[in-house]
Amino acid sequence: MRELVSSLTPYFYSIRTLKGVGDAFAEHFARLLGVQAPTLRDLVFHLPSDIVVRARPANIVQAPEGQPVVLKIKVVEHQPPRGGKRWGGKSSPYKVWCSDDSGHLTLVFFSARGDYLLKQLPIGQERVICGVFERSAHGWQIVHPDVIAMPDKIAEYAGAQPLYPLTYGLTQKSIHRTISQALAKLAPLSEWLDEALLLQRGWPTFLAALTQQHHCKDETQMMPLAPARARLAYDEVLASQLALALVRARMKKQPATPVAGHYQLTKKLLAQLPFELTQGQRKVLREIADDMASGERMLRLLQGDVGSGKTLVALLSMLQVVEAGGQAVLMAPTEILARQHHKTFTQLLEKMNIPVVLLTGSVKSDERKQALEALAEGHAPIIIGTHALFQEKVEFADVRLVVIDEQHRFGVAQRMQLSQKGVAPHMLLMTATPIPRTLAMTAFGDMDSSVLQEKPAGRQPIDTRVMPLSKAQDVLTAIPRATAQGNKVYWICPHVEEQEDALVPSDIAAAETRFLEFKTRFGGRVRLAHGRMKQSEREAAMADFAGEAADILVATTVVEVGVDVPEATIIVIEHAEKFGLAQLHQLRGRVGRGSKPSSCILLYTDPLGENGRARLQTMRDTEDGFRIAEEDLRLRGAGEVLGTRQSGMPTFQLADLSAHASLIPMAHDDVKLILARDPQLQSPRGQALRTLLYLFKHDEKVKYLSGG
Ligand code: ADP
Ligand code: MG
Repeated sequence: MRELVSSLTPYFYSIRTLKGVGDAFAEHFARLLGVQAPTLRDLVFHLPSDIVVRARPANIVQAPEGQPVVLKIKVVEHQPPRGGKRWGGKSSPYKVWCSDDSGHLTLVFFSARGDYLLKQLPIGQERVICGVFERSAHGWQIVHPDVIAMPDKIAEYAGAQPLYPLTYGLTQKSIHRTISQALAKLAPLSEWLDEALLLQRGWPTFLAALTQQHHCKDETQMMPLAPARARLAYDEVLASQLALALVRARMKKQPATPVAGHYQLTKKLLAQLPFELTQGQRKVLREIADDMASGERMLRLLQGDVGSGKTLVALLSMLQVVEAGGQAVLMAPTEILARQHHKTFTQLLEKMNIPVVLLTGSVKSDERKQALEALAEGHAPIIIGTHALFQEKVEFADVRLVVIDEQHRFGVAQRMQLSQKGVAPHMLLMTATPIPRTLAMTAFGDMDSSVLQEKPAGRQPIDTRVMPLSKAQDVLTAIPRATAQGNKVYWICPHVEEQEDALVPSDIAAAETRFLEFKTRFGGRVRLAHGRMKQSEREAAMADFAGEAADILVATTVVEVGVDVPEATIIVIEHAEKFGLAQLHQLRGRVGRGSKPSSCILLYTDPLGENGRARLQTMRDTEDGFRIAEEDLRLRGAGEVLGTRQSGMPTFQLADLSAHASLIPMAHDDVKLILARDPQLQSPRGQALRTLLYLFKHDEKVKYLSGG
């Protein structure tokens, strides 16, 4: 092990140990790599995204047309743009005439600074030029050469050059030079992959794969499934699968209190409900009951499309715990949702005299203190909260079940925090974001999972229409008619990436404008809800909309998850083309929750690109969340599907989930085999796998292993 660790050490040297990397450079790299203090590992994981292969013709006349070339030329004359603008508003380009023994070549620059170019290309001197060699009406030319260098550098630029994603302050050359230097400092690591797999796939060793990628010779080596690229992707996926499996193994190892009840409370609650459970709900409840009774710790993912009735499943499962004398916690991703669950649960449990405690960030200090005491002393059988639940001071008397609603909004780190609370509760993770199988594997490893397929009976399909924003007038005319008949309307303004320097994020500005407009138009029964409002104001607005006081809610995506107002039958989404499919599906799920027919109107702004058209078409064609998710994955790539930033999805640097999807089940099976043979990772290969975990920054999971 010591040997392995010492060969790993250089990977975690700061990039400042490299020649030529001072303060300014280190800062540029930090920005480029998105880490505060980049290490050699971070640097060499920055793979090229493209490649240019330059021909090196003997002279200008022999250069191949239309291809990237490197040429040595002599600068003859500078021709600054002719004064004034050409029609069309563009000024004429800056030209530099060059030549060699064989002929002439013009370098063409648009919007370039003459003084800078004179320094780069002094008249009468030789330079090396790289760029695409083209024919124009006036002879041979290179537009915007990508390299201008001293004449002795010609060999350096001939042949293949990998191209990297750039950031301000860094050039292709400086990145490549720094990465090459880093690679030279790294030592090979013991192999963690199976020998047979390497042979079968023709994969190089880890370090060889990295080196090859940074010195790739042609495009084929950069294809996702080219041996070196695939190997690196596989390493990353394997590390992630292994880490998940270790978390899970540890969670499972902690004994959990078996929960067995007589279903008295469940029966009482069901008797109160005006409807029957669906087949699906019944089946999932049975699975959960079996899990919780087994003595092993439950770790189950419940996937169910919007409106499939997950909340009730959660409540009924929680009641089993209460009946057995324990506490059950429901955690929601937002304050609004936590309050909504609190309200629903309180109403349903009132007759049974079971109190429901709410614990969120905004619960006032007195109430909070009381709640905390109740939790600690076990007087609170059912607790609903947001992240506040994880704050250090919260102590539970006897938590046996934790339900996490809208799991995709929580990260892996948060899931782990729960298990470190000193208790080992059963866990039920619920998500309405249908997750394609491969993605589910990357996010959750091989957690048990249940799916609620059908929707409760009596639901009508949602009539989805796609129309240009210019038709919004027709929609506005229809609204008063609908509300007069007791329908409620959501009007959603687009979410725009927040710009740090904007005083008011534009989605909120848009929502505010609409709100004022609608108030004038429809009178007082309009409310506004967005993320920047005061908590209490937003909640009051939502409460009015859910209750009697309002029937139009102008909102941003704050209503996206889980909000339940069965009378809402119309949802209008402005700039629908700007939303992801999964998000549109979530939003659309806000209607069609009662027995009345509902509609969803997707307003788009022209011109609508091909991709946008395809996405809206998908929305019109289907209400099947899984199909939508698959389509989303196809159209947008994995990172977007779950909204990487907030999701529990690990983000990958070397692997691309859509291109490397086939590697995921492979790694998944590999991990199963590895842990079956060597659960503590103690064999030589096991030791090497520990290195892999360190390399991909899963350090905390290594600590779960004995002697780790
Ligand atoms: P989601 O799965 O999106 O969280 P909810 O749990 O919010 O869905 O349920 C949506 C609505 O369906 C709620 O109003 C709930 O009371 C209702 N519901 C749940 N189960 C059934 C059922 N079996 N039959 C009819 N309505 C149901
Ligand atoms: Mg829900």
